[in-house]
Amino acid sequence: MAVATTTPYTEKTDEQRAITEMVHQFVDEQVLPIAEHHDHEDSFPDDVVEQMKELGLFGVTIPEEYGGMGLDLTTYSMIVEELSRGWISISGIVNTHFIGSYLLMKFGTDEQKERWLPRMATGEIRAAFSLSEPGLGSDVQAISSRAKRDGDAWTINGQKMWVTNGLRSGLVFLLAKTDPDASPPYKGMTCFITEKEPGASENSGEYAGLTVPPQIKKMGYKGVESTELVYEDYRCPAENVLGGEDEGLNKGFGQMMDALEVGRVNVAARGVGIAQRGLELALRYSQERKTFGKQIADHQAIQFKLADMATKVEAARLLTLKAARLKDAGERSDLEAGMAKLYASEAGKEVVEDSFRIHGGYGYSKEYEIERLYRDAPLLLIGEGTSEIQRMVIGKKLLQRHKI
Ligand SMILES: Cc1cc2nc3c(=O)[nH]c(=O)nc-3n(C[C@H](O)[C@H](O)[C@H](O)COP(=O)(O)OP(=O)(O)OC[C@H]3O[C@@H](n4cnc5c(N)ncnc54)[C@H](O)[C@@H]3O)c2cc1C
Repeated sequence: MAVATTTPYTEKTDEQRAITEMVHQFVDEQVLPIAEHHDHEDSFPDDVVEQMKELGLFGVTIPEEYGGMGLDLTTYSMIVEELSRGWISISGIVNTHFIGSYLLMKFGTDEQKERWLPRMATGEIRAAFSLSEPGLGSDVQAISSRAKRDGDAWTINGQKMWVTNGLRSGLVFLLAKTDPDASPPYKGMTCFITEKEPGASENSGEYAGLTVPPQIKKMGYKGVESTELVYEDYRCPAENVLGGEDEGLNKGFGQMMDALEVGRVNVAARGVGIAQRGLELALRYSQERKTFGKQIADHQAIQFKLADMATKVEAARLLTLKAARLKDAGERSDLEAGMAKLYASEAGKEVVEDSFRIHGGYGYSKEYEIERLYRDAPLLLIGEGTSEIQRMVIGKKLLQRHKI
């Protein structure tokens, strides 16, 4: 449903139009019909993931030489919006994988790229990324997981928290302390590509020392697993330091922050997608439900809500695409990515809540899709940095750019 006219930011190339129409149709036919079932059962949508592999959706941004589509962040954001319009858990299955492939493409050695990118492009192996621990999320410098060089490997000990795709992934991009005396602490952190057996809770053999506890039970964002990861004397080969030891040792914090910037555009696109769906459901329901002798859409109070909702969706989309286009053009986009993430995630929550209100009592019923959206939307306020953290980023970057 196109709500507004095309602008230079929302304009699509023929290729972008073809791929987003394809994903839109895939979502209508394959995702929306099964989302409520998997949400209620909290079950992983294996069939949908297999189809996503066939469509090449795990390799959208991976270069063609490694078997991917080689598309840019803007096109990726358009795809993520469409997937999230269907169910944000589906975009969550791709999201950490996208961040992992970005890290490899930007910082990986040639050997690391050749080793993993082709199998990541097909979705044969999927990636998770792990910063958070039980004692920290926003304050990444407080990480306590520790890696020590021991023979030809690094021995990792520590507990990680909230790892999306923590069970089914085959690779975890993990930030750990390698120099505990570094000051400030971020100068002593390294990103390790830790390998694991997809689906195994107790890893053994070459991956011994990595345990995946039962998945965390959540209010929404069902289907895709969020887990802890426990590393106990897990041995990570030295060649799995992202970028190699010469380039990558103690550079992990900056690498992860760089990846979070594109991750923020990605979460913003998810906000646009869920808001768009909330708007669609409200437009439909408000023309079906009658009160006081007319459709509720004919009450001005409801029209005002719809007007605010559509305006927020459009503003969120513009901010998201602007941040993505700047990044693709090689320009600075830290401020814009923060603004897009802040605005679009808040818009996602607000538009979904207004749609929920428009549904009256039925919005509270599990028979109606909006109930799922209402539980799913708040995640976007938290992942890839809370709204408070976005405001801190935006404020800092603003003052950097406008220093007197
Ligand atoms: C479903 C789900 C999936 C996730 N997936 C992943 C994943 O795949 N990988 C991963 O590494 N992490 C993941 N996370 C973790 C997520 O990134 C963190 O939850 C998030 O960064 C917030 O950290 P926290 O929960 O520790 O909150 P805290 O950092 O403890 O913050 C608590 C509150 O204090 C506020 N606050 C903190 N510091 C400041 C400050 N300086 N000024 C003002 N306010 C402040 C916060 O905004 C928040 O409101 C996931 C989380 C969820 C819920």
